[in-house]
Amino acid sequence: MKTISVVIPAYNEEECIAVLIEKLKKILDPLNYPYEVIIVDDGSKDRTFEIIKEQTGIHKFLKGIRLSRNMGHQAALDCGLKHASGDAVISMDADLQHPPELIPQMIKLWEEGNEIVYTQKLENQDTTLMYKLWAKTFYSMFNRYSQIKLTPAGSDFRLMGRKSMDAVLSMPEYHKFYRGLVPFVGFRSTTLSFHVQKRFAGKRKYNFKQSMRLASDGLFSFSDFALKIPFIIGGAAMIIILLYLLYTLILLLFHGTVIIQGWTSVIAILILSISIQLIFMGVLGVYVGKIYFEVKKRPVYFSDEKVGELGKIQ
Ligand code: UDP
Ligand code: MG
Repeated sequence: MKTISVVIPAYNEEECIAVLIEKLKKILDPLNYPYEVIIVDDGSKDRTFEIIKEQTGIHKFLKGIRLSRNMGHQAALDCGLKHASGDAVISMDADLQHPPELIPQMIKLWEEGNEIVYTQKLENQDTTLMYKLWAKTFYSMFNRYSQIKLTPAGSDFRLMGRKSMDAVLSMPEYHKFYRGLVPFVGFRSTTLSFHVQKRFAGKRKYNFKQSMRLASDGLFSFSDFALKIPFIIGGAAMIIILLYLLYTLILLLFHGTVIIQGWTSVIAILILSISIQLIFMGVLGVYVGKIYFEVKKRPVYFSDEKVGELGKIQ
């Protein structure tokens, strides 16, 4: 019998947990697959873990892991995925923005031979115009410059079969960006669209800085394009200078004189070239910073407490 795992990172989601578990139970029970639900409490400051603990007394399918502190959504997701033992693993958010009603359809598509079932958000009433603009810019930049293509308006709500799950987990990088790691491994896949629901309760946990960090993790982990820009700009500048030198040589030969320009142009070119060099030192700095964290090989998360029978599905 094939088994299903549902993995949910949760940070300060005390109002959502009980309702989420009820909903999942209602949807998963009739499907007749043995299943487990793993909720990873990402160092919440509210009663999230206490509620998970209480609920594990009621539901055998429920398991919980508390991280030692707030490690971030991707780290919590990583922890949950590593502990999932199902033949198919579904990841979703705790705030009910990812409708559990989509799960039966995801499982059906998996049974039909798709190793990965992605989802794509149709619209989101909870996001601001600024966020929408930011997301659009990020996806178009990513798809232009990286080795893989992301589904625009993609999300971490997806199903992965055991083969692709193990492939994704075999990548040991520190800066996890699951939305990129999953398409990177390949395999047969399909995409389902869904209407993003309103957050059941509480506020958005990602602030703008965290969203920027996630986007930069994604972009710089899957593209080395920024490192190549100096070649393009340096090459173009060299051609311009060579043409200019040729022009002065012609003037010297035919008119016997060289036009001497004023200070402004000299200073402008000097400052421009210094600032371009500084920008590219910054780009190098970003990559060196990433390497710095990668070589330390620090674990992505530390777990503090575990509840429920992790490691098997009854
Ligand atoms: N989350 C987390 N750790 C964090 C921030 C968020 O585990 O540091 C969880 C959060 O509880 C939710 C999911 O990640 O289940 C997505 O977060 P949120 O709803 O704030 O983001 P949005 O849906 O607005 O992109
Ligand atoms: Mg949300």
